[in-house]
Amino acid sequence: MADVRVRFAPSPTGALHIGGLRTALYNYLFARKSGGTFVLRIEDTDQKRFVPGAEDYILESLEWSGIRPDEGPGLGGDFGPYRQSERREIYARYTQHLLDGGHAYYAFDTEEELDARREEEKAAGNHSFRYDAATRTGMRNSLVLTREETDALLDAGTPYVVRLRVEPGQMVHVQDLVRGDVAFRSEEVDDKVLMKADGLPTYHLANVVDDHLMEITHVIRGEEWLPSTALHVLLYRAFGWEKSMPAFAHLPLLLKPNGKGKLSKRDGQQLGFPVFPLDWTSGDETLSGFREAGFLPAATVNFLAFLGWNPGTEQEMFTLRELVEAFDLERINKSGAQYDFEKARWYNQQYLIAADDERLGDRVGQVFADHHHPISTEQATTIAGLLKERVHTLPEFYEQGLYFVTRVGITDEKMARKKWKPDQRPRFEALRKELAGVDPWTAPRIKETTVAFMKANDLGFGQVLPILRLAVSGTVNGPDAFAILEAVGQEETLARLSEGYNLMDRLQS
Ligand code: GLU
Repeated sequence: MADVRVRFAPSPTGALHIGGLRTALYNYLFARKSGGTFVLRIEDTDQKRFVPGAEDYILESLEWSGIRPDEGPGLGGDFGPYRQSERREIYARYTQHLLDGGHAYYAFDTEEELDARREEEKAAGNHSFRYDAATRTGMRNSLVLTREETDALLDAGTPYVVRLRVEPGQMVHVQDLVRGDVAFRSEEVDDKVLMKADGLPTYHLANVVDDHLMEITHVIRGEEWLPSTALHVLLYRAFGWEKSMPAFAHLPLLLKPNGKGKLSKRDGQQLGFPVFPLDWTSGDETLSGFREAGFLPAATVNFLAFLGWNPGTEQEMFTLRELVEAFDLERINKSGAQYDFEKARWYNQQYLIAADDERLGDRVGQVFADHHHPISTEQATTIAGLLKERVHTLPEFYEQGLYFVTRVGITDEKMARKKWKPDQRPRFEALRKELAGVDPWTAPRIKETTVAFMKANDLGFGQVLPILRLAVSGTVNGPDAFAILEAVGQEETLARLSEGYNLMDRLQS
């Protein structure tokens, strides 16, 4: 087989959907696995849908997730330019080639004429109008007009589009690597516009020309492009490139969490979870991204890999490198992949737990800083280590760990009312005094002192620990109580105990 070359070809029309990132990932994995090349191509020929900033968003998403292209805009490569808007002359040349060969034709029909024609069909109760072999003879195009008439219109600068001349009666077979043999009849394909009136190619023409010129061997893309593949094959045929046409693999759709219908950007907003890699703001709307929601790139990638693929074993945790090893186009599912956000959270938790405390601490420190609560590296490392088994995403370190660095009062008042017995206060004052003598202030020594105190006073863990926790952290939940006290520090613990006893006294009244 020729050297594998695959491409990820997003259109910069807005935020890259998480399904798009999955497409990029599968292309990347396949390229790496086969020692091939992963190309990034920006398909920006649709000026109406072009959104400024979208290309940067795509690049940043790939960068964040570690899915690095080998060739692409700004990266170089022998097949550039990699931005379609910079390849106009190429498309013009290839369009001319099709025109010369009789595989394409000029069509001068105005929007109004096309609309009128659609209305006519509707009024006659027919299915919607299609520009194809059956109807084109009734339209204004170079197949109907004489050569002279066509030239005159062109010379006069009359706006036109170029359409593919699709002849009926042809069979198109696509050997899809995921779906097997997919057959189309050419009657199902209309005479699609290849070159628009603005002189820019449509997606179909540019995509096929570029896949050919960039020597793409495998087209791995979303299932929504499967119907277009018939047209693409006809285009390869018209160009005489069918023999060297790439192989196709169409990836299953991402479905809503309940499995009913395609996952949409609205689902993310309605159900409160991200369906984009990074936050994207346009106007007063912000779509939330995995990065800002506190997901680690490695966890996100691991989660995405399993949306439509599985290794055929029980193993669920895969680094990017392990995914490269295990990945196989043959193990991609045909049926849609249900988007299970809980699974994403589970993955993230596994990666948090496995992370080194110090490195995770950097991220935890960042989260606190983002909340205008700068903390020391040491504090960040401690919080990372103590909380990582209890959280699923990075912001939760702050939500659950704020008490480590500042007084939060009693957050669980109900529990405080239940556990605090005002008549026991002298005993807890005594415990505080004992704790004041602990040296060095380490969790084992704090525990030793507390346990000795409990024994001497005939008290159980259930009577003492909740009080310590409530006074120091505001809640009875959390990691090991003695570890919390150590992390909070001796002086601060003693201060919080006094303050906490007062607060709990007050809650009783
Ligand atoms: N530009 C298309 C998209 O945005 C690419 C489809 C393809 O990979 O052929 O999805």
